[in-house]
Amino acid sequence: MTAATPIRVALIGLGKIARDQHLPAMAADPCFELVAIVSRHAEQPGLPSFHTLDELLASEVAFDAVALCTPPQVRHGLARQALEAGKHVMLEKPPGATLSEVEDLRQFAQAKAVTLQATWHSRHAPAVAPARDWLAGRRISAARIIWKEDVRVWHPGQDWIWEPGGLGVFDPGINALSIATAVLPRSFFLTSATLHVPENRQSPIAAELDFVDTAGVPITAVFDFLQTGPQSWDIEVDTDGGALRLSHGGSKLWIDGLLMHEQPEAEYPSLYTRFAELIATGASDVDVTPLRHVADAFLLGRRVAAPAFVE
Ligand code: NAP
Repeated sequence: MTAATPIRVALIGLGKIARDQHLPAMAADPCFELVAIVSRHAEQPGLPSFHTLDELLASEVAFDAVALCTPPQVRHGLARQALEAGKHVMLEKPPGATLSEVEDLRQFAQAKAVTLQATWHSRHAPAVAPARDWLAGRRISAARIIWKEDVRVWHPGQDWIWEPGGLGVFDPGINALSIATAVLPRSFFLTSATLHVPENRQSPIAAELDFVDTAGVPITAVFDFLQTGPQSWDIEVDTDGGALRLSHGGSKLWIDGLLMHEQPEAEYPSLYTRFAELIATGASDVDVTPLRHVADAFLLGRRVAAPAFVE
């Protein structure tokens, strides 16, 4: 696909991530042309807007692909409808509310011979690939994930996050897991978890997780949605060659306290570059590993009642 024949995209769900990242990333990439919006409430000046995907599909607007920026609970139905219509589909993270529905989409995209991309934007943070390369040749003795942010700052008014399928603190936590599964050299699995669920909500506001990798190396994760002051999106790995720290959500790489790698953030431009490559080669990319770890935590985790959360 070239800039001469851009991929025509309809964006579905004009919320925070659509406005903050998808619109600018598409506007800056000549391989893509945003041709329509599907939104229950909002409009985008200068573009045809539709309240439902049904209305868009019934219209005369021609498009090749959709970028699905809704909450996960409604992702599957919209994605299936788009695939059925022969459109390529980019899924925001997490790719669905359940593993089974994502597998259904994977198989359906294959049957329809169109591209399905389950995006993990944090894997495209600039220091993630250098961290993976640095860790590849080293003996790891422990890893710690510390992911603490203020839900009132980052997710204001997002009631869906507290509903079943909204993941609660695992909505950001799954980003950490997407990085950890990309940089650590061996697969790992959950051994125990504690989930703190506010008495007036359905999803955890905090969690502690214990994993072990296939060589017996312990990996811990602490997720917290009530972090005020400095925020933490850090992964620390102890190795025989020094202590690695990935900070700022994968943006900065430190070795033994020295900053080794820092570049401007370009996660969403990189996601769209990948989407164009997948479409051009007739491929899909549907890795559910981070979502599987979250599902495991919900399967195995011990629930602890937490105080009611009022925004
Ligand atoms: P958001 O601000 O709440 O926007 C989601 C949009 O989806 C809504 O504005 C709404 O747009 C549409 N929508 C359709 N059905 C909906 C429903 N049943 N309930 C609520 N909204 C519905 O959320 P967001 O932060 O953009 O997150 C959307 C997805 O992107 C999530 O899966 C999230 O994990 C992911 N993500 C978010 C961020 C971030 O920093 N916020 C970063 C990376 C990824 P219309 O009114 O236009 O229909």
